[in-house]
Amino acid sequence: MTLKPKQVTCQCGHTFTSSRDRSWCERCASAVYYRDKDKSKFKHYNMYVVGVFLAVITFLTYVFLELIATPLLSI
Ligand SMILES: [Zn+2]
Repeated sequence: MTLKPKQVTCQCGHTFTSSRDRSWCERCASAVYYRDKDKSKFKHYNMYVVGVFLAVITFLTYVFLELIATPLLSI
């Protein structure tokens, strides 16, 4: 989605033109949001993604231990 180019200011003070919901600061490489209210939305979304990611990693570790490591150890 393309937005109207707008001046956004990063928390480090760097100001640049952005036409996306979220772009990256060229100076400190942190996320800069087109609309201030998007900050919390993206933060919650990131937490959700991290939670799902951790659940998947835990599940894969469990499957690995159950199916691969245990038979190998019992030989
Ligand atoms: Zn910055």
